[in-house]
Amino acid sequence: MTSLRQGTEKEKFEERYSRQILFRGIGAEGQLRLAAGRVAIVGCGATGSAVASLLARAGVGTLRIIDRDYVEASNLQRQSLFDERDAAESLPKAVAAARKIAAFNSEIVAEARVDDVTPATVNALLDEMDVILDGTDNFETRYLVNDYAVKNTIPWIYAAAVGSYGVSLNVLPNRTACLSCIFPDAPGGMVETCETSGILNSAVNMVASIAATEALKMLVGGEAIERLRKTLWSFDVWKNEQAEIAAGYPRAGCRTCGERDFVHLAGEGRPHITMCGRNSVQIHERARPIDFAEMQRRLETHGMVRHNEFVLKFWREPYEMTLFPDGRAIIKGTTDTGIARSLYAQYVGS
Ligand SMILES: [Zn+2]
Repeated sequence: MTSLRQGTEKEKFEERYSRQILFRGIGAEGQLRLAAGRVAIVGCGATGSAVASLLARAGVGTLRIIDRDYVEASNLQRQSLFDERDAAESLPKAVAAARKIAAFNSEIVAEARVDDVTPATVNALLDEMDVILDGTDNFETRYLVNDYAVKNTIPWIYAAAVGSYGVSLNVLPNRTACLSCIFPDAPGGMVETCETSGILNSAVNMVASIAATEALKMLVGGEAIERLRKTLWSFDVWKNEQAEIAAGYPRAGCRTCGERDFVHLAGEGRPHITMCGRNSVQIHERARPIDFAEMQRRLETHGMVRHNEFVLKFWREPYEMTLFPDGRAIIKGTTDTGIARSLYAQYVGS
C-alpha cells in the first residue's frame, strides 16, 4: 500500500513525532536529539521490553538490546514485546525484540545482541552508548554496569520490579550517587525474585515508564537535566506505598565512584550462572562456534533435537539444553552446576 501523501523526510519525521514535539519539555530540537541518541538496554525481559518499546516509539535513534535468554510462554504475561510465535520458536529475546520494534518503527535502528554481559564482554557490548538502561534481574550484572558507567562517565538508570513493587535510580557518574553509594554490597539473605514473589505486569510498566522518561531527559539534555529525579524512588502499586531516599550526591568513600576501584569490571569471567530461579544453569566457559546442522545430526541419537537460525534445543529427560551459535548453553531442569557441566561436556564437548 502506498502512502496517500508523499512528504519530505523532514515532514514525515515531524508528523510521526508531532505529539511529542508539541510537548514543551522536548520540542523540535529535543526530538532531533532523541533521534541522535544511542541507548543500551541490558536485559530484555519485562522491564527491558517495556522500556525498549517506549523509547523506540519515542524516536530514540539507536537502541542496542542485549539479552542472553530466549522467549518462553511464561514470559508473555509481562514481557510486552513478545508473542506466542516467538515462544514457540524459542527466539532469542534480543532478536524477537528488534523484529517487533522494526514493525512499529522502521526509522530507528534496533540492534540485537544475543549475549551475556560479563567482565569479558561488557566493553564491546556497551561501547559508544549515551545512556544505559537496566533491564536485568540480578545484582551481579547491575554492579558490573555500574562499574562500567562510572569508569566511562556514562549515565545509567537502575530499574527493578518484583511482586507489586518497583524501584529506580538515576546514576549520573560523579554528580549523583552511584549504585554502590546506596548499596555498598548486594542485598544478602533471602532476596525476593519473580519466582518467589511473582510479579504484576503493571508494576513492571510503572517502573519502565519512570525509567524511560528519565532516559528521555538525559538524551534531550539542557534544562531537562535539571528535571532528573535525584532519589532512589520506589512505589508499591498494590499497597499504594511509596518511598524516596536522597541520592543527589556521591557518598564519601564509595568504593566505586570515590576510590574508583572497579572490582566487578576486574572480576574473573563467570563460567556458570544459575538463572533467576528458573531451575536452569548457564554454561559459558569459552567461545566455541557451533555448527547447528552438524550438532543436530550428532545429538539425534540421544534425544529430541531441533534448531533454527538462532538456537538449537535438545531434550534429554529431565533436562532441556538450549545452545547458542557461540557455544553458550542454558540447561533447564537443574540448578546443580556440576550436572549442567557434565551434560555439556557429554553432548557438546569439554
Ligand atoms: Zn558511588
